[in-house]
Amino acid sequence: MSDPGWLTQGWNHIWLPYAQMQTAPLPMPVVRTEGSRIVLADGRVLIDGIASWWTACHGYNHPHIREAVAKQLEAMPHIMFGGLAHEPAYRLATRLAALMPAGLDRVFFTDSGSVAVEVAMKIAVQARLNHGEKGRTKFLAFHGGYHGDTFATMAICDPEEGMHALFGGMLPPHVMAPLPRDGATRAAFDLLVERHAHELAGIIVEPLVQGAGGMVFNDTDTLRHLRAAADHFGLTLIFDEIFTGFGRTGTMFAYQQAAIAPDIVTLSKALTGGTSPLAATIVSNDWFKAFLSPDPAKALMHGPTFMANPLGCAAANASLDLFETEDRLTQARTIETALRVGLQPCRSLPGVVDVRVMGAIGVVQLAVIGDPAALRSEFIKHGVWVRPFRNIVYLTPALTISDDELQTLCRIVFEVLSEQFFFAKKD
Ligand SMILES: *Cc1c(COP(=O)(O)O)cnc(C)c1O
Repeated sequence: MSDPGWLTQGWNHIWLPYAQMQTAPLPMPVVRTEGSRIVLADGRVLIDGIASWWTACHGYNHPHIREAVAKQLEAMPHIMFGGLAHEPAYRLATRLAALMPAGLDRVFFTDSGSVAVEVAMKIAVQARLNHGEKGRTKFLAFHGGYHGDTFATMAICDPEEGMHALFGGMLPPHVMAPLPRDGATRAAFDLLVERHAHELAGIIVEPLVQGAGGMVFNDTDTLRHLRAAADHFGLTLIFDEIFTGFGRTGTMFAYQQAAIAPDIVTLSKALTGGTSPLAATIVSNDWFKAFLSPDPAKALMHGPTFMANPLGCAAANASLDLFETEDRLTQARTIETALRVGLQPCRSLPGVVDVRVMGAIGVVQLAVIGDPAALRSEFIKHGVWVRPFRNIVYLTPALTISDDELQTLCRIVFEVLSEQFFFAKKD
């Protein structure tokens, strides 16, 4: 691998995400992106199978988004959101509200998914306090769920895979349950909600797909069951659509398939089409009303420095334009078919325990990946960017990926998984 100089120099100063720095291999230096392609410093080109952690839904460097951001950059890269207003944010809030279920009209902008979830949690808890109801500070969340890496969100992630054990004493206890997906788990869930309702503020779930927790699918009956429980006990139902939003599951948002309205939706990841950090917490009028009062202490006390950054909002508006003018949802359905066909052969490979597809998400689940680092570098050798985690190899390509590129991705997943060497654990 060629070293552009800055890489080994900066290596002594960089701290990588989710990485054991003593053993982490040097990352691949990237100089450019275009569509579904990542150009490395040594001239090699990788086909991106995961759209930069599910953000680049229109592919990289889409000219319409680039133009919108460039124009905004010229006029005003940033302005504080307290006491001042700008068109990109006000237009974006109006457009996002129009995409939400009826009654979810209020948008609070932040700069990352974790913070958007924290704001949702804060709203659900403070709404009770504003009504003079104390002690309802917990959330019901699900095994296999992922909602972020900050302290409040870690506490509602999967208790095994999350960092509960490590930070045990520092995380507030919440109520964790298996997703109610059949008669038995539903009955257990109903009992659990009833027992804890007096201390619960809300229920939080990733609708249809639990992403970072292992790409596990759930269904619309499950989501409707959660809605019914939330209604019965007066709980705030939060749909964390940070992964599922913007066409990933085949509809613009996952809530549309269940045909129910949550009380709060969180968005980030593909919100700006993979251009820059931005997140949104979108709240129903009912829960918003709990903050209206002559009393300033009943206001929502939150306000990130870079709240509603105009560059991010311009990118998000341009991204929404593209959903209106280019048929992304049809593309998602085409990808779904191609993934079903393309990943089907993996079913017969030894070590593969499941192959599943929903929308533009294709998952090959293995019994175990002994040496994930070796597997990752094998994909790079084959010219694709795929990043397996735990026992999962998955594809979440840009919705604009070409048929050829997608077929290549599927073929290489099959070829690499046929090699089998990564099953053995490196000593
Ligand atoms: C990625 C993700 C988050 C956290 O978003 P960050 O921007 O990384 O803080 C929260 N919820 C879900 C469902 C996610 O996929």
